[in-house]
Amino acid sequence: MRAMVLDAPGSPLRLVELPLPECGAGDVLLKVGACGVCRTDLHILDGELSKPRLPLIPGHEIVGIVAARGERVERFSIGQRLGVPWLGHTCGHCRYCSSGRENLCDEARFTGYTLNGGYAEYAVADQRYCFPIPEGYSDAQAAPLLCAGLIGYRALVAAGDAERIGIYGFGAAAHIITQVAYWQGRKVFAFTKRGDTAGQRFAKELGATWAGDSTTAPPEEMDAAILFAPVGALIPEALRHTAKGGTVVCAGIHMSDVPGFPYSILWGERSIRSIANLTRRDGEEFLALAPKAGIRTEVATFQLEQANEALERLRKGDIQGAAVLVMS
Ligand SMILES: [Zn+2]
Ligand SMILES: [Zn+2]
Repeated sequence: MRAMVLDAPGSPLRLVELPLPECGAGDVLLKVGACGVCRTDLHILDGELSKPRLPLIPGHEIVGIVAARGERVERFSIGQRLGVPWLGHTCGHCRYCSSGRENLCDEARFTGYTLNGGYAEYAVADQRYCFPIPEGYSDAQAAPLLCAGLIGYRALVAAGDAERIGIYGFGAAAHIITQVAYWQGRKVFAFTKRGDTAGQRFAKELGATWAGDSTTAPPEEMDAAILFAPVGALIPEALRHTAKGGTVVCAGIHMSDVPGFPYSILWGERSIRSIANLTRRDGEEFLALAPKAGIRTEVATFQLEQANEALERLRKGDIQGAAVLVMS
């Protein structure tokens, strides 16, 4: 099979020919139809997430068809379309796993980071962590649901019942979560990079009440904010516009350092929290909700061998919606 491989952080991915991966007793072998390109992939390439397996096939938003299955696989059949998310393995017995918080498992393994991912024509995954993909989405349109959608959804849940939500960083996750929040009847204030008028227009098309630069004030106070941009300086920025009792949720896996700020902007029972990974329950809930809420994804598609180009476009903020590799 053809695959794009990372040999070492800091180097571009390389197109290689590999034997088909081995399918363990509890694994499915998927013929990959599409794989999303996520900001986390950039953090891995840049060495900001410092413990990848190497060489690594990145990619943790995999949509594919079951081509073979291990002898213990009973959940899925040959030909079924599945999605593979970031969470690829947990221990099942630590204090996190046994209290419904498998996203925090110390032994967790992650697709496209500590396990090989979907920048390839085939991928293997443990059946226990795969999800059936809802009807009505092409492979490419479904791929961003698996991380941008899932982890964005977890962040939205962490924002509580906030009526007015600020979303900082209008990329793949924001374009999905804005639609969910709008469908739930909330008001969304979308913050983009300075001068990104195309991004602001896009946010409004998806249901945002207001859109503007991340350094400007929203038209009214917010009850919660979600930060998808990996910029630590946005934490005090968001806090300043968040009402008493409100939460600032940091949804990214890596962020630049957070500058100091006066206690007065945290006072009033405001809180700051992060979102780490996902549980399988998040996946089941979100993938059931997405078609009900009429969530549409806007994707920019690239061929497998164009993965480096897709990543650079994402780095520049030059993608509207989500970047996705399609294997044809
Ligand atoms: Zn991701
Ligand atoms: Zn565990």
